[in-house]
Amino acid sequence: MTGAQAKTTHYRDLYIDGQWLPQSGSGAIDVLSASTEQVIGSIPEGTPADVDRAAVAARAAFDNVWSRTTVAERADWLRKLSGALKDRSEQIANIIAQEVGSPLSMATSIQAGLPVMVTNSYAQLITELKLEQEIGNSLVVREPYGVVGAITPWNYPLHQIMAKVAPALAAGCTVVLKPSEVAPLNAFLLADACQSIGLPAGVLNIVTGYGPVVGEAIASHPMVDMVSFTGSVRAGKRVGALAGEGIRKVTLELGGKSAFVVLDDAPFDKAIPAGARNAMLNSGQTCSAWTRMVVPRSRYQEALDLAAQAIGSLKLGDPLDPATRLGPLISDTQRKRVEGYIAKGKQEGARVVLGGGRPAAFSKGYYVEPTIFADVQSQMTIAQEEIFGPVLSVLPYDTEEEAIRIANDTIYGLAGGVWSGDPERAMRVARRMRTGQVDVNGGRYNPLAPFGGYKQSGIGRELGMFGLEEYFQIKSIAR
Ligand code: NAD
Repeated sequence: MTGAQAKTTHYRDLYIDGQWLPQSGSGAIDVLSASTEQVIGSIPEGTPADVDRAAVAARAAFDNVWSRTTVAERADWLRKLSGALKDRSEQIANIIAQEVGSPLSMATSIQAGLPVMVTNSYAQLITELKLEQEIGNSLVVREPYGVVGAITPWNYPLHQIMAKVAPALAAGCTVVLKPSEVAPLNAFLLADACQSIGLPAGVLNIVTGYGPVVGEAIASHPMVDMVSFTGSVRAGKRVGALAGEGIRKVTLELGGKSAFVVLDDAPFDKAIPAGARNAMLNSGQTCSAWTRMVVPRSRYQEALDLAAQAIGSLKLGDPLDPATRLGPLISDTQRKRVEGYIAKGKQEGARVVLGGGRPAAFSKGYYVEPTIFADVQSQMTIAQEEIFGPVLSVLPYDTEEEAIRIANDTIYGLAGGVWSGDPERAMRVARRMRTGQVDVNGGRYNPLAPFGGYKQSGIGRELGMFGLEEYFQIKSIAR
C-alpha cells in the first residue's frame, strides 16, 4: 500500500495574503501517520505575530475587496473552489487516511467528498438567501459579519474547515483559519486550491500551530469580528471566554455523548447494526456518534448479540487498504485516553462483551479493538463522558419514559437516533430528545440540514442555510 502514500512534505511557509510567507518563528510540528507512526510531514509552529499578519490581511481584504463583491461573484468563486477541491480529492483522501487514520473508502466519500459538496452548496444557498426585507418603515439588511477566526479539530478536518470557510466566504466575510495541529496537511491542499483559482489575496489566511498560542491569539485579536470554533468543551470554554472579553460573536461546535434509543417494537435486525456502525464511524472519533445504545431490558441480550456481530464483522486494518472499515485512532495520546476509559468502565462494573484491548495483529499504529460494554448504568463515567474511540455502551431501560430520561441524562446534546416499528412513536420520542439532531428509523445524513448542539454541545449551527445565516450582521435602516 505504500505506493499510494503521499510524499513527506515539510511546510515552512504560511498561506497569508494570497502568498506563501515565511513563518515568523522557527518552530515546526511533526505530523505522524496514525497507522505507521512515521513522520509524514511537518508544519510551521505559528506565533501571535503570524496571526497578526493574517488578521491584517483579512481585514484589508474584507474592507476593500471581498465585502464589496456581488453575490453572483462570490457564488462563482465558491463553485471554482469546490471544483479545485474536487480535482484534489484523491490527494485529500489519501493524506487524511494517513494523518487521521480514516479508512480510504470513507476518507474518499466523506473526508474528501463532503467538503466538495458543502462548498458547492453555498454557491447555491447564497443566491437563495433573502438579504433585504421591509419591516414597517425599516429596510432590514443582512451584511457580512466581518473577519472570521476559524479554529478546527482533527477528526473530519477538511469538512470542519469548509463548514466554516464556505459559508463565511459566501456571506462576504474573510477568514483567518487555524486548522488542527494534529491533522493539518489537508489544509495546505486547501491553500493550494485557493491559489490555483486565484482567490483574491487575504480572503482566506491559514496559520498553523498550537491552540493555546495561535488559537488564543485568533480568539482575542481585535481585528477579528467573529470566532467560529469546533473542538472540545475544554477549549471551547476558553475560546468563548476570550471572544467574550472583546464582545466578539462566537459559535461553538463541541463534543457529544449521543444516544440511540431502540424502542421495543423496532426491527432489531436493521436497527441494531445501523446503530452499531454509527458508533464506530471513523473509529468512534465522530462528535455526533451514537456512543450510547439504549435498548429495552426485555430484548437486551438480542441487542448485545446483534451489535457484537455487526461490529465484529468490520474489517480492522491499514487505512490505505480499500477493504478496511475500521482504522487506528489518530494518535498515541488518543489511544491512551480511550484505554483509560475502557479501564474505568471495567472498574465501575460494566462488562466487556467485545474487544477491550489492543489488537495483536498490528505492531505499529494506534489501534484499539472495537469494544462493547454491557450492563452500563447512566451515571457511569463511560455513559457520561465523551470517549472519542471505538467504544459502545449498551444501557438497558424498562419504560419509554426511562429511555428518554437516559438519552437526555448527560451534559451534551449534539445528536441521537430513535428506531421504532411505529414512525409516529419514533417521532414522539425524537421530539423529546434535547439534542440538535435526531435520526428517526435510519434517516439519512443530510448535509443541508443544520448541525449543532443543545446544552454543552455548543452554540449556533453549521451547514445549510442556518449555517450561512450565522455569518451576517443585521442592519435596520428606518426611513
Ligand atoms: P481540541 O479542543 O483539543 O482542539 C480543537 C482546536 O482547538 C484545535 O485546532 C486546537 O489546536 C484548538 N485549541 C486547543 N486549545 C485551544 C485554546 N486554548 N484556545 C484556542 N484554540 C485551542 O479538540 P480536538 O481534540 O481537536 O477534537 C476533538 C473534539 O472536538 C471532541 O471533543 C469532539 O467532540 C469535538 N468535535 C465537535 C464537533 C461538532 O461539530 N460539534 C465536530 C468535531 C469534533
